[in-house]
Amino acid sequence: MRDPAASHVCLSIEGLTKRFGGFYALNQLNMDVQQGHIHALIGPNGAGKTTFFNLLTGVLPADTGKIVFDGQIVDDARPSRRTLKGIARTFQNIRLFPHLTVMETVMIGEHCRAHPSVWKALGDAVLKRPFQESVAEREMQTNAIELLEYLGLAGKRDEKASDLPYGEQRKLELARALATKPRLLLLDEPAAGMNPRETSELDRIITRVRDRGITIILVEHDMKLVMGISDNVTVLNFGTKIAEGSPRQIQDDPVVIEAYLGEDVQL
Ligand code: ADP
Ligand code: MG
Repeated sequence: MRDPAASHVCLSIEGLTKRFGGFYALNQLNMDVQQGHIHALIGPNGAGKTTFFNLLTGVLPADTGKIVFDGQIVDDARPSRRTLKGIARTFQNIRLFPHLTVMETVMIGEHCRAHPSVWKALGDAVLKRPFQESVAEREMQTNAIELLEYLGLAGKRDEKASDLPYGEQRKLELARALATKPRLLLLDEPAAGMNPRETSELDRIITRVRDRGITIILVEHDMKLVMGISDNVTVLNFGTKIAEGSPRQIQDDPVVIEAYLGEDVQL
């Protein structure tokens, strides 16, 4: 059992704001994420969830606000620097290099630990000849195979990423993110397009990742998944936080129910 008294804040967000033109995609967001928690971030389409991930990973600059990760302000750090600090993500719209094999895809994640640029990582993971293989390289391969076994993809290590069924492509994205050895993992709709069997498998995988001590922010529309595994839930609507609490508190909150009216989501 995790000891709540021992928990501390892994990520602290203060007044985070992002405008596109005059439109506030994220408006003065304050949010604390406890170390070792699964913290869900939910809200109707367009609420600002993916924008929040883009600000956290540094692919978009915030207009105002502060991001403190593990006690350090990361506002000015480039995306690769944030990966090195331990922030990893998966994408709402799957972003895999289609021609790479499953194994090569995971190796890229590992090389991102060592290289400041994804292109350098790509070159090292894929273009290196066997005679250049170092001890470090072999160790990375062993780690990659372990990760693939962990996610049930080891049997597909030599298949092209684009040949995998959709649900397995999502798992491969997760494997690539885990290969960077994150301390904070951002999952953007990981169950989208998965069948119920894959979703319950994903449920177990996310829980096991959390139990390894990795903090997770989970953006997801599958409320059964969200309410079943989250320690905390923050709800966004039109870029603004409208509620925060335990899954039970959130499910019963009239403000949240109202925000979801008209959406094809069962709280
Ligand atoms: P969510 O992930 O919660 O569905 P997003 O963060 O993708 O929402 O989008 C929040 C709002 O910001 C939406 O209205 C979206 O159209 C807008 N938006 C997101 N990215 C951009 C962008 N690059 N340029 C202009 N508007 C954007
Ligand atoms: Mg989104």
